[in-house]
Amino acid sequence: MLEGLSENLTNTMKKLSGMSIIDKKTLKEITKEIQKALIQSDVNVKVVLNLTKEIQRRALDEELPKGLSPKEHVMRIVYEELVYLIGEKPEPLDINKKPYKIMMLGLQGSGKTTTTAKLAKNLKKRGLTTAIVCTDTWRPAAYEQLKQLSEPLDVPVYGDPKNSDAVDLAQKGLEHFGSKYDVIIVDTAGRHKEEADLLDEMKQLSTVVNPDEVILVIDGTIGQQARNQAKAFKQTTTIGSIIVSKLDGSAKGGGALSAVAEINAPIKFIGTGERVDDFEAFDPERFISRLLGMGDIETLIERATEVTADKTDKEMVESIVSGKFTLKDMENQLNMMQKMGPLQQVMKLIPGVGNQLPKSATKETEEKLDKYKILMKSMTNYELENPDVIKKSRVNRISRGAGLTNEDVKDLLKYYNLTKKALKGGMGKRNMSGPMGKLL
Ligand code: GDP
Ligand code: MG
Repeated sequence: MLEGLSENLTNTMKKLSGMSIIDKKTLKEITKEIQKALIQSDVNVKVVLNLTKEIQRRALDEELPKGLSPKEHVMRIVYEELVYLIGEKPEPLDINKKPYKIMMLGLQGSGKTTTTAKLAKNLKKRGLTTAIVCTDTWRPAAYEQLKQLSEPLDVPVYGDPKNSDAVDLAQKGLEHFGSKYDVIIVDTAGRHKEEADLLDEMKQLSTVVNPDEVILVIDGTIGQQARNQAKAFKQTTTIGSIIVSKLDGSAKGGGALSAVAEINAPIKFIGTGERVDDFEAFDPERFISRLLGMGDIETLIERATEVTADKTDKEMVESIVSGKFTLKDMENQLNMMQKMGPLQQVMKLIPGVGNQLPKSATKETEEKLDKYKILMKSMTNYELENPDVIKKSRVNRISRGAGLTNEDVKDLLKYYNLTKKALKGGMGKRNMSGPMGKLL
């Protein structure tokens, strides 16, 4: 279903996730993968080259945003450039004349008729009146289907099941409604394939209807066929926008990207279900996230401004559970406590630990926090990892370096030993096989 594009890109992204450093060589490899993935998916070669050139340039030129690792930085650029390719937030339908004539294009089953009703409802919400012309002489009961869908919306439908001339139906329908409605949507017939008959009919219809906007409806589950469909319909008339249907469930709409690249028209809406309300304005960022199978991409972008506390948090808990709690861990703990105290929250969940934390761990710490932090900055890494080595001469040096007193250093060490003892007490070897030990 999702051949090519999204699968390849997802694999590339996975590969990228495993890398720790992004140097020039790695970056080249990554962009090659992206190129391969896009070209294999029939995206225009020129588009691909421009895209990957820009990814390389930005990855090397741009300063690493705070809180992002190099790999996350590159992933973000890839993502942003794909968003750019598929279009920034598109303009919604700009209904600038009356009647504004919309013509629906697409293969049979792509979702044209359903989308026609969805669109009518969407326009109604905007305070616009809509009428629908049924020119589908192909599908049995096409007219009934449209009527059923639009009756609850109070949207009139013109059609004549006995008339088998689509062009004639269009002409009569447009005359019938005149300029009484803000929008007239002409729903058309499809075929199972983009065959000559269908394309001929669309060409003729387009000449007669003279639409203000032609919307191509693409089934979001068809993968790479989307490009060929777009290419075929492009020959019949100028396509103004795309609606991708059936983006509910697991469909990611990978093919739509190629269709967009093919006809250079923006996606304006997506269909997310069979009901008339299952219709949304297109959100490029969400679409790309979905396409790449990276549900957490929004989080990733938010992280650019945050400090990566999660990792430190986890590392420290691991260190504590392993029975080793250094001054460095405590420094991390203090830093986090100042924010929200995630460690304390974690500790509270461990049976037997929560209540044993020194009382000073909360209130007093806040007051002494700055002092401790200054003191620890004055310590060497060796001292932070091996606090036991801090004896008299080191105490003198640390206090002097921090501009504080020996008492302050002793106070810090006392607090450290107290915390360590409390943690160890609750985290005996027995507990390691408990649920928390396993969890970590
Ligand atoms: P048309 O032949 O292009 O007019 O397609 P239809 O509007 O008749 O839709 C074909 C089938 O797809 C119908 O069963 C619709 O209910 C279904 N369909 C249309 N849009 C969506 C959608 O967004 N999600 C889902 N799940 N089904 C859809
Ligand atoms: Mg139909």
